[in-house]
Amino acid sequence: MKNLHNALMLKQLYQLKQLGYRYTDMQISQQIHSNLELPSTLDALRKQSADCHLCPLSKTRHSVVFGEGDENADILFVGEAPGAAEDGVGKPFVGKSGELLTKMIENVLRIPRSQVYITNIVKCRPPNNRVPSATEAHTCLAYLRKQIESINPKIIVTLGATAYHYLSGDESKITQIRGTLQQWGAYRVVPTFHPSYLLRNPSAKADAFADMKLIKSLYEK
Ligand code: URA
Repeated sequence: MKNLHNALMLKQLYQLKQLGYRYTDMQISQQIHSNLELPSTLDALRKQSADCHLCPLSKTRHSVVFGEGDENADILFVGEAPGAAEDGVGKPFVGKSGELLTKMIENVLRIPRSQVYITNIVKCRPPNNRVPSATEAHTCLAYLRKQIESINPKIIVTLGATAYHYLSGDESKITQIRGTLQQWGAYRVVPTFHPSYLLRNPSAKADAFADMKLIKSLYEK
C-alpha cells in the first residue's frame, strides 16, 4: 500500500508542478491526501486502472487486463500477470493456460467460467513474460485488494507461487502449500498450481484436480 501511496503522490506532485504549484503550499498537500484513495466500485476502479502509469509496465503494455467475470462471484481466481495473448485482447487467461483454466472450472467445478471472476496480481504484461518485480506487484496489489473488497468472494484461488506469495506475504513453496485450506478473515483461500505449470508438468494435474475438488466442496457447502 505504501508503494501505491508514494507513486500516486509523486504522480500528483508532477501534475501540480506542471500547473505551476509549488510543493510547499500547505493546502496542496491536503488536496493530494484527499485524492489518494482508489475508488471502491469495480467500474470506477477499472476506469482508473485503464489510465494507470504507476509502474514501468505501463510503458510496454498494449492493454490493462483488469479482470473479467461475475462481479458477485463466489469464487475469485488470481493469476500472476497477463501474457501476450491477454495483452492483445485486454482479457485474462485467454491463451493456452486460459484454455486449461477454463476446462478446470467448467469440467471439475461444473460451473460456467462466466460465473467466477478471474484477475491477476499485476494488470499489465511484464516484458518477455518475466515474473513481475516486487515493486510492480506491491503497487498493483492495491487494485486487487479493492477488487476483492468489491466482489467479496467466498473463496479465493491463487494460481501459482507468485499469486500466493504476494497476496499472502508467505514465502512457502507452492509444492508445500498447494491444496491447503486457509482462512484470511472472511475469505477461504486455496492455493493451487498455475495452469502454465500444469502444461509443462502434466504429472502435477492430479494434485490440481484434488485442489479443484476441494474448491468444489467448499463452493457447494
Ligand atoms: N497467466 C497468468 O497468470 N495470467 C493470465 O492472465 C494469463 C496467463
